Amino acid sequence: MNTSVVSIQHNLLQKHRQDSKERGHVSIDSVGISFGNGPDRNIAVHETSLNIEPGEFVCILGPSGCGKSTLLNSVAGYVKPTTGRVLVDNAEITGPGPDRGMVFQQYSLLPWKTVLENIAFGPRLAGHSAAECHSIARTFLAMIGLSKMEKRYPGELSGGMQQRVGIARALANYPSVLLMDEPFGALDAQTRLMMQESLLDIWSEFGTTVLFVTHDVDEAIFLADRILIMSASPGTVIADLKVELERPRQSDMATSDLFISLKRTCLQYIRAESMKAFEQRECE
Ligand code: ADP
Ligand code: MG
Repeated sequence: MNTSVVSIQHNLLQKHRQDSKERGHVSIDSVGISFGNGPDRNIAVHETSLNIEPGEFVCILGPSGCGKSTLLNSVAGYVKPTTGRVLVDNAEITGPGPDRGMVFQQYSLLPWKTVLENIAFGPRLAGHSAAECHSIARTFLAMIGLSKMEKRYPGELSGGMQQRVGIARALANYPSVLLMDEPFGALDAQTRLMMQESLLDIWSEFGTTVLFVTHDVDEAIFLADRILIMSASPGTVIADLKVELERPRQSDMATSDLFISLKRTCLQYIRAESMKAFEQRECE
């Protein structure tokens, strides 16, 4: 391969790693989000404020329907806050942008493009040459351990592999923030554990802020530096817990005293909030 293309790619990654110590600060400032008007008005997110530091791995944990996706979508720029504002690196979010990569539960790859072309798609839109795009895509393919699959189509890959390609595709834009909405929710338990380990490897290599939505307590503790627990609908952050487990995380940490005591705390919050959500539905 052309050595100048490889060195451009190498420089991009180096620069990203340096910048990631300063880039990727997220500020959610008195954000409230409602849908509909009048009697049909539905408050999805109650006034919420929080700060996430560059490079932090933060999990948002909460019962179903509490507004996790809505809050994440306001950072992605898909949903405009009704009140308050979201800032990334001091710039107010007014819409989606390549500085924020998104990974959904559905793999959302382009089925008619190969794995390599799927990952190269973002850099292509950003105006890189075809050779640069392929070089960028190959770097991320190597990072997710799927170099041999570059000519395959998404339909030929397992769910776990497709989701790894989804992560590589989001990273290929060199985002300062990676937003993940229950990305492993559709995977079987074993694949899910492998994906969690794989994501932590990628995160430590790539260096970026991660905002990860889940309703799975074990997943949140295994991954996060910090867990933000949301209340039942209308959701707001009711607890901000630091996960002091050392890194790299190992699967056997799940039996440690620290993990178990944190799990107990999280489950108490989630149970209480799920009960409230259940009672609200019963009263409707
Ligand atoms: P979670 O991700 O925690 O399960 P969501 O953020 O998807 O919760 O939804 C929170 C609330 O907002 C729910 O009551 C849901 O029905 C409502 N909601 C989400 N998106 C929309 C939308 N586009 N239009 C109307 N209501 C919505
Ligand atoms: Mg959701």
